[in-house]
Amino acid sequence: METQELKEMKELIRKLREYNYYYYTLDAPLVSDREYDELYDKLVLLEKKTGIILPDSPAQRVGGDVLKGFADHKHITPLLSLDKVKCKEDLTSWEARVKKLIQHPMEEEEVEYVVELKFDGLTINLTYDKGNLVQAATRGNGEVGEVILEQVKTIKSIPLTIDFKGKFEVQGEALMRLSVLEEYNKTADEPLKNARNAAAGAVRNLDPKVTAKRNLSAFFYNLGYYEGISFSTHMETIEFLKDNRIPVSPYIKKCSNMEEVIEYLTYLERSRDNLDFLIDGVVIKVNQLELRDRLGSTGKFPRWAIAYKFEALEVTTVLKQVIWNVGRTGKVTPIALFESVDIGGVTVQRATLNNWEDILRKNVAIGSRVWLRRSNDVIPEIMGRVEDNPGEHEVPIEKPSECPACGSTLVEKGPNLYCENSLSCRPQLVSRIVHFTSRDAMNIEGFSKKTAGLLFDALDLRDISDLYALEYEKLYGLEGFKEKKTQNLLDAIENSKKPALSAFIYALGIDHVGKNTARTLADRFKSLDGIMNASCEELREIQDIGDVVAQSIINFFKDKRIRQSIQNLLDKGIRPQNLESPADDAEGDLALAGKKIVLTGKLEDFTRNEAAELIEKAGGTVVSSVSRAVDYVVVGEDAGSKAQKAAQLIEEGKAPTLKIINESEFKQLLKPNLEKKYR
Ligand code: NAD
Repeated sequence: METQELKEMKELIRKLREYNYYYYTLDAPLVSDREYDELYDKLVLLEKKTGIILPDSPAQRVGGDVLKGFADHKHITPLLSLDKVKCKEDLTSWEARVKKLIQHPMEEEEVEYVVELKFDGLTINLTYDKGNLVQAATRGNGEVGEVILEQVKTIKSIPLTIDFKGKFEVQGEALMRLSVLEEYNKTADEPLKNARNAAAGAVRNLDPKVTAKRNLSAFFYNLGYYEGISFSTHMETIEFLKDNRIPVSPYIKKCSNMEEVIEYLTYLERSRDNLDFLIDGVVIKVNQLELRDRLGSTGKFPRWAIAYKFEALEVTTVLKQVIWNVGRTGKVTPIALFESVDIGGVTVQRATLNNWEDILRKNVAIGSRVWLRRSNDVIPEIMGRVEDNPGEHEVPIEKPSECPACGSTLVEKGPNLYCENSLSCRPQLVSRIVHFTSRDAMNIEGFSKKTAGLLFDALDLRDISDLYALEYEKLYGLEGFKEKKTQNLLDAIENSKKPALSAFIYALGIDHVGKNTARTLADRFKSLDGIMNASCEELREIQDIGDVVAQSIINFFKDKRIRQSIQNLLDKGIRPQNLESPADDAEGDLALAGKKIVLTGKLEDFTRNEAAELIEKAGGTVVSSVSRAVDYVVVGEDAGSKAQKAAQLIEEGKAPTLKIINESEFKQLLKPNLEKKYR
């Protein structure tokens, strides 16, 4: 009779094979990697426990089937998968295993490790011969892959010819950068749900024109077969790839012991959100190739490498309800609610659906199983439905016609719905006040959302300038307001009357004008009047300001009610501090005059705002993205993709004046101004 365990194993295999088919063959997974890995681990455990390995077990083979329509390519050396661990303790056990296996009776080997990113894209295997790219294939089942040479040729960073003339195979990962995915989805009829499947689907598309449109990237990490050259370490193979201009990730480090490995992988895990592509962990490899030969492989995994998996940033869940949230500009945004799920180590139960048009494009409904992704610190986003067609149990999401907060009729503008009752719609006013008082804006300490609500409800605060007319007697006695708190708040309000011009502009809450744009505006126009009266052409001339932002600024300052509101603030004594033009600076110590500077990573001695202020005082401009027009990229701790991009531009000779500097070099540049500041 069949045991319970055997039954369970058969059921797990059935499910895993189904999921494999959707993931590897169709590039349209039905479950998240975490859900897949849980079932897989269960199967491996049962195989170990029972000692039975069923012939079709996915735990014994690499990858999926080869798609019909593509020619077959037999890899010269098989492409293996990687064994995985999820915690640092398991790495120590892996190290012990490695050391035990390589031990020769008379010698103590010093094992070196290399730590690399584990890219989450589609594995590709390139063959070069006589200096030409002659073949490209997917991993397929590890032995045989699909020929995708024409598709791969559309990836611009992959060289078609190289200096080395011998034959070799090199493995890497084709990826879609997250910024490229975002850009693509802005205009796509059917948004792509996930960068991994977008890349895999593009490479495995029979039409290379479709691949080209997705604008893919690639990183290479393993030299398989090679002839006419020899290496003794993995790092030498990486240098060889670099010498031949085959793209290699800059995040790669040789470590001489496990402590160093763990230190670097902890750093990479923290930096993950700064990367512009998906990774699902890091790979730790033995550096010495001779030791690798001795360790060998199991048939599915090499014994000389291990993947350390990070927490999943993508999960699937069921959409339960959609509520509509009114923001400070009156924009009414759909928020999706679902049963709480764990994602990237954080428990979440709500995500944004952006706007009404997004709901239509993603074709999601109440009851749909959806993909959920969390990146950076932003609230998670629903990427799309898991299965293409809605099930019978799904209920369409209703488009609201009235503001959920004040009942005003909603107006449709582009993809969004708006409540135009900016005078008395509570959530709009409350969030406007909260934004106005926030740290990077007027910096009124001790002002919370609760306080803003209280002032709206109890004191009828309607215009932001009313803040500056608050009286002790009225404030005292409101919930939570005793003597000290009342006085502190009034002092903080009084002390906010001379804001930096950029802070004041940011505080106004113009749509699309964040801290950086506010700073750029202040820097360019020097005064509030200058900004309020700027023409659309003048605004558009500024780098970093496009048509949408320029138009938004123009519309904002054209609004009579807004102009009145600003006048009210000025009448109450608010004096945004105009900037002097560089030529007027009497001290003449503008060390960074005309320079464009990008800040990335955490600086030790300054906050971002302080650094930006100092740069401005020294005549420079802070810009948000790295380009050839930038002069310095200041790299702090945990710097991410911006530093990487700068290094790439410099390496490719595309930015002759760009320099990457660290905090101490930055201070050196600012020296005259710093001395002035602390004098
Ligand atoms: P894997 O993706 O976990 O790891 C092995 C692969 O990582 C290697 O073959 C290589 O191609 C790649 N890789 C990336 N960076 C690398 C680097 N720096 N060095 C070496 N290799 C690197 O294993 P797999 O066998 O490709 O796939 C199994 C995984 O795929 C599962 O654990 C699961 O997470 C996912 N999967 C998901 C589903 C699903 O339905 N969601 C289905 C099947 C598989």
